[in-house]
Amino acid sequence: MNILLTGGTGFIGSRFVKRLVAEGHHVYVLTRFPKQHQDTEYVSYISYNYSMNRLPFIHAVVNLAGESLFGYWSEKKKADVVSSRIQTTEKLIAIMMHMETKPEVFISGSAIGYYGVSNDKIFTEATKEASDDFLATVTSQWENVAHTAEDFGIRTVYARFGVVLDENEGALPQMARPIKLFAGGKIGSGEQWISWIHIDDCVEMLLFALQEKAIKGPLNVTAPYPRRNADFTKVLGQTLHRPTFLSAPTAMLKIMLGEMHQLITEGQYVYPKKAEENHFTFTYPHLEEALQQIYQ
Ligand code: NDP
Repeated sequence: MNILLTGGTGFIGSRFVKRLVAEGHHVYVLTRFPKQHQDTEYVSYISYNYSMNRLPFIHAVVNLAGESLFGYWSEKKKADVVSSRIQTTEKLIAIMMHMETKPEVFISGSAIGYYGVSNDKIFTEATKEASDDFLATVTSQWENVAHTAEDFGIRTVYARFGVVLDENEGALPQMARPIKLFAGGKIGSGEQWISWIHIDDCVEMLLFALQEKAIKGPLNVTAPYPRRNADFTKVLGQTLHRPTFLSAPTAMLKIMLGEMHQLITEGQYVYPKKAEENHFTFTYPHLEEALQQIYQ
């Protein structure tokens, strides 16, 4: 298959590209900086201004681009987080609109922040309404733009990513750093849920969504056993053979991180019901095995 993808130079996207190539697909990566990347036999890096009519028939489009959420959430940063996602999605929609033969599937990124935060609710894809905080607003706007692809008759999937775990990229290295320095412990109350997923399962679930025609609409890309922050921290400490008896008070984090503190002091229990109903097999359903594999 020929696959057109944004965000293919990022954490999740670059792993997904490797997996797609291993499956024998050709990937066209839309990037702001095509000259910084070397084309290979199966991967072509193209700019957003590329004449898309030069592309061969595209079977699938995947949308994983977006300004990183890490860093201080100034008004400018927040505007970039929103506009980077909306604009790249609008560009993909315009590209698909002009394709004579439409792709079979469009997978567009989203996040479990869509559901808002709660220490006691369980969220599945059946949860209808988005919350109204910043992350929920961004993700629901992002999904609304992507939704236009459904009007072209394209099977559209909104991949609501949880916290994707990897040794070197994403949130885990930042969570592990204080623990490695013997200064680790729970964040805030420690009660907040972390709906996590191992990077390998994340990539497999994207591939699954690409291939399984029954998957459409929102898809929670999370492992089936979320953990509370205190518990997650304890398992991470045990894996790294470090103590985790300190704690970082929420008030201090609010001062240090501003509004971005929400990313780590609050959370949500998100269950991957659609993956379960469609018999997706997790290699790392439990946190202990996931972290053991990551730090082996
Ligand atoms: P990364 O930050 O690693 O990569 C995203 C890609 O987006 C980059 O490689 C870059 O591609 C492109 N990009 C970055 N900034 C901009 C910008 N201002 N305008 C246009 N494009 C930009 O993201 P991840 O791979 O970690 O995540 C993929 C998506 O999934 C993101 O939208 C993220 O919010 C979401 N997500 C990720 C989670 C995680 O745990 N990693 C959790 C929840 C959601 P290039 O430079 O080639 O143009």
